[in-house]
Amino acid sequence: MIKVNLNVKELYNSDFNFLAKEAEYICLKNYGKKVFLRALLEFSNECKMNCLYCGLRKDNRNIKRYFLSVQEIKKIIKKNYLSGFRTFVLQSGEFVNFKFNELCDIIYKLKKEFKNITITLSCGYFTKRKLKLLKESGVDRYLIRFEVADEKIYSYLKNGLSLKKRIEMLYNLKELNFETGSGFMIGLPGENDEILIKNLELCYKLNLDMIGIGPFIPHPDTPLNYLNKPSFEKVLKITAILRILLPYSNIPATTASGTLEPYGREKLLKVGANVLMPNITPPRYKKYYLLYPGKICINENADTCILCLKQKLKKINRELSFDTGSSINFTMKNNNLELNYGIN
Ligand code: SAH
Ligand code: SF4
Repeated sequence: MIKVNLNVKELYNSDFNFLAKEAEYICLKNYGKKVFLRALLEFSNECKMNCLYCGLRKDNRNIKRYFLSVQEIKKIIKKNYLSGFRTFVLQSGEFVNFKFNELCDIIYKLKKEFKNITITLSCGYFTKRKLKLLKESGVDRYLIRFEVADEKIYSYLKNGLSLKKRIEMLYNLKELNFETGSGFMIGLPGENDEILIKNLELCYKLNLDMIGIGPFIPHPDTPLNYLNKPSFEKVLKITAILRILLPYSNIPATTASGTLEPYGREKLLKVGANVLMPNITPPRYKKYYLLYPGKICINENADTCILCLKQKLKKINRELSFDTGSSINFTMKNNNLELNYGIN
């Protein structure tokens, strides 16, 4: 396999216009005009964790907690399946043990009822044993950000938890053949250029199938409410570098970026992102799933969301795709095919 060892530090210090042009070229060459859609369902905002940055943290008593029933989840998936979606991301806080079996059961039923759907889960940390059970229930992909590639800052933000364990889970996911996604936030306390470079290096080392990054947006009901948001330019530059480092991965233009900057997601699609995740959570629940404040499209339903995204993409000469859209990385790996890495 040809895998050029790219120098992340050198890329980080490169001119933005060069990075942007290169990233867009690589993305169009590998993925074409297609932008893959993932329907995001925030099925519960219950969380036993107390991450300092997050509005869903256990100690935030200012939100109403919910957990959708199997029937509600099925109804929402059915409606969006009929609208054309085939890839569903189920996201939640970290819930207590006894809900685990319920989750496996939901996944099993969804996979049985809706043919050819791909399910991605994003519910926080699980042991290898539980990941195996999730795989057996039908989960195809898993998203869990490492948040920051610095043990000390990670442990501070997550009340003593260890980054090593989080990374171990990512390797477990890969071993169990989940399509694996991770990433980090930009603008966390203690961050500097060196740490951002370490974040990028870790994504490269993990050879991720999906990379989700986004700005940290301070939430008023958290201990980090006094901090500032990062600049959008930083998010753009980091996205472009990631596309160069991981030319065959899927990179979403995240909602947090659209919240930080008007047309933020469109701008990210111009520098290497190739995925959008429209939110299909019913508006009556969506308003209680505020990881950060000012989330966009909070009152929209899925159908208006698709129409709106279609128009946005047309303006930047890209097209919506309902394909399940595995990363080229993952597809090639599973077919024992080789990939060329690096800048041409
Ligand atoms: N509970 C799961 C999934 C939900 S949180 C987990 O923690 O993995 C999903 C992501 O939201 C987190 O990984 C984090 O990167 C992001 N997030 C949380 N609080 C945020 C904030 N204030 N600003 C921006 N992103 C945030
Ligand atoms: Fe819970 Fe995830 Fe928020 Fe942490 S980031 S408090 S685990 S929802």
